[in-house]
Amino acid sequence: MANENVVLVLIGAPGSGKGTQSTFLSTKYGFKHVSTGDLLRAEVSDGTEIGKKISDIMGSGGLVSSDIVNNVMESTIKKVETQWPRLLLDGYPRSVEQAKFLDNVVSRLTNVKICVIQIDVNADSIVKRMSGRVMCEGCKTPYKVEDHVEVCTVCGGRSFVRRKDDEPAIVLERIEAYNSVSSKVLDYYGDRAVRIDGDRSPEMVFSDVEKILEGFGLFRVV
Ligand code: AMP
Repeated sequence: MANENVVLVLIGAPGSGKGTQSTFLSTKYGFKHVSTGDLLRAEVSDGTEIGKKISDIMGSGGLVSSDIVNNVMESTIKKVETQWPRLLLDGYPRSVEQAKFLDNVVSRLTNVKICVIQIDVNADSIVKRMSGRVMCEGCKTPYKVEDHVEVCTVCGGRSFVRRKDDEPAIVLERIEAYNSVSSKVLDYYGDRAVRIDGDRSPEMVFSDVEKILEGFGLFRVV
């Protein structure tokens, strides 16, 4: 791998497979996976001041204000220099304001490169995918309803719930929020962002992700 630290930005609508690709990247290449959705949900479940401010908007599928998200993310991004040389951002940036903020933070670091990948999936597939998933109530590991899993393979939990914001009506709102705001992020990145067809198996999508990382000169695919 080149001697450069990397912030990999995965952009895609909710349910586009960002989480799955993130798991592949963490396992195979040691990326530190940071999901803004997870960070913000933790604020809500911990009942912090920020959590209280954002719980309603998150429950209704809207986007949290960029000021709050940027604040939560700044210290995380800086860890790419010291703690996590391969940092993968899942769900951030979702607006031009956030993308500019990220560029700004990274420009003040040394030897850090941003790589942007967009996973493109059509809305019908997304609604189908998301209304068919549940998660372990204890450790939040996701499962497909069709797999009829009774015991969580990670923590042994036996209770599975659907995320409130995975209900079809909410999913549609989240896609709308994504389309109306986040697609502009891709215009902002222009040639810096590379698009992948996400309507394929996770393995095929991952193979494209690896090619892109190799093309960026970040590392040799093994
Ligand atoms: P996710 O798990 O990525 O689908 O995110 C769940 C929810 O967290 C979203 O519907 C938003 O309410 C909020 N959220 C996550 N990331 C961001 C972001 N970058 N900007 C604003 N809101 C966000």
